[in-house]
Parts: sequence; C-alpha cells; structure tokens
Amino acid sequence: MSGQEAELETQGHLTVDVARLDKGGEWYEGETGPDALDLGDSEFVEPVGGIVYALKVEIAGTELLARGEVRQRLRCVCSRCAATFETEAVDTEFVCSVEINALTDFLDLTGEMREAIMLALPGYPVCSEACRGLCLACGANLNTAVCSCRKKGENGRWAALGALE
Ligand SMILES: [Zn+2]
Ligand SMILES: [Zn+2]
Repeated sequence: MSGQEAELETQGHLTVDVARLDKGGEWYEGETGPDALDLGDSEFVEPVGGIVYALKVEIAGTELLARGEVRQRLRCVCSRCAATFETEAVDTEFVCSVEINALTDFLDLTGEMREAIMLALPGYPVCSEACRGLCLACGANLNTAVCSCRKKGENGRWAALGALE
C-alpha cells in the first residue's frame, strides 16, 4: 500500500456502512486516527500514527465478519539497553464478528482492531534479540562499549551475573 493511498482513506475510525455493504463483501483499507490506541500508562511502547488495516468485510447470517490484517507502528524503548527503536505490532490473521440485525446501519470496528493490536504488543520490547543491555555495574551500553567491569574473555551475560553478586 502506498503512503498516498493510506492518506486518502485515513479516517478517525473504521466504520462499516452495513446497510449498503455489497452482498459479496467489500474490502476496507485505510488507517485510523493516531489516537485509536492510547497507551498512556506504558513507559516502553508508544504508537506512531494510526492502526493500518486491510480487511474483507462481509455479512454472514446474523453476523458481520471482518478478516484481514491490522498493523501499527510503534516507538519502543528497549527493556535491556533503553535505546529507542521503531517496530510494528501486526496481526496478519485478524478476525472479528459482530452480531447485527435489520436495524444495524453503521458498525465501528475500531475497538476490535485495537484489541488485536494490544495482544500483539511486545511486553518487554528489545531492540534486537542479541541486545546485550546495560552493564549492571557501571551502566555502560554493552552494545557499543566495553567497560572495565567485564573481564576479558567473558561474554555479556556472565559479566552481568557477576555484577549482581
Ligand atoms: Zn537494546
Ligand atoms: Zn561496567
């Protein structure tokens, strides 16, 4: 999806026009407003932009069914070394169904997408699986520095354990 395309279809919420939905289903693509995911109390993860979605929406009996992909860019603080980095929370198998009836005209699926993103959030984000974190003794970033707390020939993990004792 191009950035321009996303911008054209940007709206605050994903609202499905149920009353006029094509019988064969319709694709909904776009991006929610940046405030769709509020993680005000998180010190490690902050959303960047809105939730980007590409969903096939159709009516199945008494339910509205939406399937596809939701993703959101995140700015995270590495829980090991405190570096800031960007990543994405992605659910490539997003599915939700909502009960509808003859009176349902519009349906807001933003809340369902928000839940999927919440589940995909990293609990303890790391900038890289190989991140060596900070020296527990002197606070040096062991990804970029070799501090004198570490003895030659030891790797970062053992040095950190040693520093705990
Ligand atoms: Zn890190
Ligand atoms: Zn050190």
